Amino acid sequence: MYQDFASRLAGTVWGDYDKIPDRTTDYPTISELETVVIDGNFPWTIIKVTTEEGIVGLGEAYPSPGVHEVITDYLRPVLEGENPLDVERIYHLMRESLSGRGSQQGIGTIAISGVELALWDITGKWVDLPVYQLLGGKMRDSIRIYADCHGGESMVDAALGGQTHEMYTPEAYAAEARTAVQEGYDMIKFDLDVPSGHEIQTKARHLTDVEVEHKRRLVEAVDAEVGDEAEVAYDLHWNFNAESAKRVADAIAPFNPLWLEDPLPPENTEAMARFRESVSVPILTGENRYGRHGFRDLLETDAVDFVAPDIPKTGGIAETKKIADLAEAYYVPLTPHNVGSPVATMAGVHLGASVSNFFAIEFHARDVPWWENLSTESTPLIQDGRITVPDRPGLGIELDWSVVDEHRKY
Ligand code: MG
Repeated sequence: MYQDFASRLAGTVWGDYDKIPDRTTDYPTISELETVVIDGNFPWTIIKVTTEEGIVGLGEAYPSPGVHEVITDYLRPVLEGENPLDVERIYHLMRESLSGRGSQQGIGTIAISGVELALWDITGKWVDLPVYQLLGGKMRDSIRIYADCHGGESMVDAALGGQTHEMYTPEAYAAEARTAVQEGYDMIKFDLDVPSGHEIQTKARHLTDVEVEHKRRLVEAVDAEVGDEAEVAYDLHWNFNAESAKRVADAIAPFNPLWLEDPLPPENTEAMARFRESVSVPILTGENRYGRHGFRDLLETDAVDFVAPDIPKTGGIAETKKIADLAEAYYVPLTPHNVGSPVATMAGVHLGASVSNFFAIEFHARDVPWWENLSTESTPLIQDGRITVPDRPGLGIELDWSVVDEHRKY
């Protein structure tokens, strides 16, 4: 049935999940969507969904340019007047409204994900239950957090060209590992796609033997320092080809890394499956994959040992739960990627509380001292490398808007 674009944007979408007019109980009505960007070590993109009843739901989208425009120009007209408790239905409405404009992956899916988190927050607040309770209940009381570590200054500085290879020494890696373990973490991760000073500037994704040896020495130093106290993973960020990544995998295998992350570029599932078959270290990937379809082939081809969807990117809480359930059918643990503020992190906590195969979620802001101050809670969310699953309604996280305003980008 043909309907013009304007009427679709007004929410009069075709199909059997069109507006549901007859309700026997009261329900809230969405009145406003806003975005606020916090200038963290990433531009943390907070989504505020407000209802006519005054409930404010908080969500967060993966830091990406254009989220504000997608939400303001496309999603707001679709959501205004809707019942936010129909989370799954609204998820499909949002995907329809962005059909052909990124509803399968990329910026459109990222914006949808951010709104979806806020809908769960509103739903929990409306029924006065924590989100994990709406997802099937609680499997665990606390969520393991793993610390992203950098043996030098922050990754942002590196991206700006502010670092030299001297910062990526075995001594710096060992010292950083020790600091993280002293902070209470029993699971940490380091980047291995770091400068060694011996790059030959090839675009062929090739590593020389000297470069591989530099990475081996970084891993050796971390293992010697904290190997008995923490599980340690390493990330290659898609930068190498199969022969070079395999030489890295073989070189670090004696130190039993928890996983090697993104050894190859993200698009070619068959190549990843062949790679996993060729090495003895466990393989993790997923932060650049979208939705259940982004993980189906990885699992069907035995390409991974861990899946790492990014909740505010891949489709939101419900979509990630479906990915988790799909992974469980292959006995693969869920280890969400996370570079977000406390809002995105708490979405991961509720999801992690509710799925059997949850393993740990990432924390990427150890070098942002005011990350905890964004929360109105008087005690830190992360204690001894864990977050206690909150019983507060919704996502159980409220932002201190004075701290937000202090670091507000726009
Ligand atoms: Mg990564």
